[in-house]
Amino acid sequence: MGIASSAHPRGRLLLGAGPSNMEERVLRALTNPVVGNCDPALLPVMAELQRLLRLVMGTRGATFPLAGTGSAAVEAALLNLIEPGDRVAVGVAGFFGERVREMAALCGARVVVLPAAWGQCIEPEQVAAAFRRYPDIRAVAVVQGETSTGVLQPLSDISQLVRAHDALLIVDAVSTSGAHPVDMDAHAIDVCCAGSQKALSAPAGLAPVACSPRALARMRGRKLPVPSVYFNLQVLADYWGTPDFCHHTPPVSLYYALREALRAAAEEGLPQRFARHRRTHLALVAGLEAMGLTMQVAAPADRLWSVNTVRIPEGVDDRKVRHHVLAEFGIEISGGLGELAGQVWRVGVMGTNAWLANALRVLAALEEALRAQGVRCGSGLAAAQSVFDTEQLVAEGNALLTA
Ligand SMILES: *Cc1c(COP(=O)(O)O)cnc(C)c1O
Repeated sequence: MGIASSAHPRGRLLLGAGPSNMEERVLRALTNPVVGNCDPALLPVMAELQRLLRLVMGTRGATFPLAGTGSAAVEAALLNLIEPGDRVAVGVAGFFGERVREMAALCGARVVVLPAAWGQCIEPEQVAAAFRRYPDIRAVAVVQGETSTGVLQPLSDISQLVRAHDALLIVDAVSTSGAHPVDMDAHAIDVCCAGSQKALSAPAGLAPVACSPRALARMRGRKLPVPSVYFNLQVLADYWGTPDFCHHTPPVSLYYALREALRAAAEEGLPQRFARHRRTHLALVAGLEAMGLTMQVAAPADRLWSVNTVRIPEGVDDRKVRHHVLAEFGIEISGGLGELAGQVWRVGVMGTNAWLANALRVLAALEEALRAQGVRCGSGLAAAQSVFDTEQLVAEGNALLTA
C-alpha cells in the first residue's frame, strides 16, 4: 500500500449526515497561531464567538461552545437541568431522540416517552396529554432535526405548552443550526444544543450550547450539585463571561475555525442561508423522486432541509451502492441508523455543501451506482435543475416585492 492510499483520501465531497466539508477560509483559520489560556488575545476571539453564536441560535442568552461534539452539548444540558427523580418528557422519534431518553434516564429522570414512528413528528397533543397525566413534568426534551429519519420537528406549539406548564424546554438542534431557523428566544427554548460540523461547516470538536436565564436560575436552585465538573454549565457560563480562572485548555484552533465558519454564515445572512438550504433540499428531493425513489418522510413540510432520507429500493445492496458512490465519485453518503439501517440512505446537503451543483453530483453518482446494481432508474438531473431554478426565480421575485 503506497503513501497515497494509506494517508489522506483526497477531495471527498461529504454529503452524508455529517461532517460536511469546510470552506478554505475555515481550513486556513485552523492554522492561525495558537495562544495560551491566559493570553489577552484570546478574549476578543471568545467574545466574537459568543456574539456570532447568539445570532445563529437566535438568542440574547448565554451562549458558548463546549469542547466536545454535539452529543456533549446534549448530555451537558440534561446533566445540568435534571435532578434524580425529576419527571422529564422526551420526544423519541428516532435514534437521537432515543439517545436523549437514555441520557435523561442516566441522570436519574423519571422519563415519560413521547413516541412517534420513525419518519414522523411528535404531535403537540402528545405533549398536552403528557402534562394532563403528569402535571409534575419539569422539562421536555425534543430533537429539532432527527437526523436518523430526516424529520424536522416543529417547535412552536410544543413550546407554548411547555411554557404554559412552567416546565423547561431542551432542544437538540445539532443538525438544524445553520440550516433552519432555531429561533431559541422566539420558541422560549431553555437549553439549546448545536453542532459545529454539520450545517455550520466547522470542524467537529466544539458543541455550542445556549442557556436561557430561566435555565441558569433552575441550575442555581438545584438541590444536589451537578454530577459533572467538566460539564457544569453555570461554571462554564461564568468562565465564558469572564475567563479569569482556569477551567480547561481552550481548543483555540477550533475556536478560530468555528469563528470563521460563523462569520461566513453571518456575511451570507441567515435568511439567505436557510433559503439556500431549502432550495437545494427541494432540488435534491425532486431529483430523487424523478429517479423513481421514495422519500422516507411522506409529508414534504416535515422534511429536514439538511439531511434527506430516501428509501433504498427493494433488492438493492446498500453497502455496494454507498461504496460505489464513494470509490467512483469521491462522495460520501450515509446509511440508515437503528431501525432504518439498510432501509434508507441519508444524503446531507448542508452548510457550504448546500448548492445545486452538489445535489446534481450526488444524483448522478446514485444513478450510476444503481445502474451498476442492475436497477433501471430514470434520471433526476433535469427535475432537480428545474426545481432549483423555479425556487430561485420565486426567491428573486419575493426579494423584488419586499425591496
Ligand atoms: C449528529 C447529531 C448528534 C450528535 O452529534 P455529534 O457531533 O456526532 O456528537 C446529536 N443529535 C443530532 C440530531 C445529530 O444530528
